[in-house]
Amino acid sequence: MKLLLIEDEIRMAEALKELLRQDGYDVDVFFRGDDGLEAVCSGQYDGVILDVMLPGLSGIEVALRSREAGIRTPILMLTAKSELDDKVRGLDAGADDYLTKPFQSRELLARVRALCRRGQPLVNDMLCAGDLALDTKALTLHCVTTGQSVHLSEKECRVLEYLITNQKQILSKEQLSVKIWGYEDESEYNKVEVYISFARKKLAFVGSKVEIKAVRGAGYALKW
Ligand code: CA
Repeated sequence: MKLLLIEDEIRMAEALKELLRQDGYDVDVFFRGDDGLEAVCSGQYDGVILDVMLPGLSGIEVALRSREAGIRTPILMLTAKSELDDKVRGLDAGADDYLTKPFQSRELLARVRALCRRGQPLVNDMLCAGDLALDTKALTLHCVTTGQSVHLSEKECRVLEYLITNQKQILSKEQLSVKIWGYEDESEYNKVEVYISFARKKLAFVGSKVEIKAVRGAGYALKW
């Protein structure tokens, strides 16, 4: 089980990480809300433990934006005693459970176990890269950091889908052409450039940090 802990108090974060590690969990820690949100949207975690008061982006915003992006990973929110409204706001924002600080270790572990049992798989039609979530069924591109969405044409969606699913690689015009238009014909390569330019406009429209970089003589790759 892989958990994501987003907590800015370093001693607290280290103590929780150690506690969870001893209970057999694999734990990654992020100290800022904005960085944490990107990690949530990577879809690689079975559960998220999320503090409310965070630099960069509040825990409430992290929960809200990840749900808006279609991420269903269960979230346990940590609230301070004085933050009464945060429990309600957190649950409204899409958290599955909350725990009030200070809490007993045993209670945290019990809540985490319950949380992971409740876990649902990620929606398969949703692909993520950096701050982007691409819904290949609804043909919608969403940026989790700005909260902006935009509708895509089918071909724009296919171009972005191919770039996101191969996000560590440089894809040549030939590869894109064959993948999206189905055959290799040099006259089609211009189409690739046209659709890359459309896709770039959509990325700029939603205000994403993700860019499509042209690698001279080689092709295209996502960078952020
Ligand atoms: Ca905090």
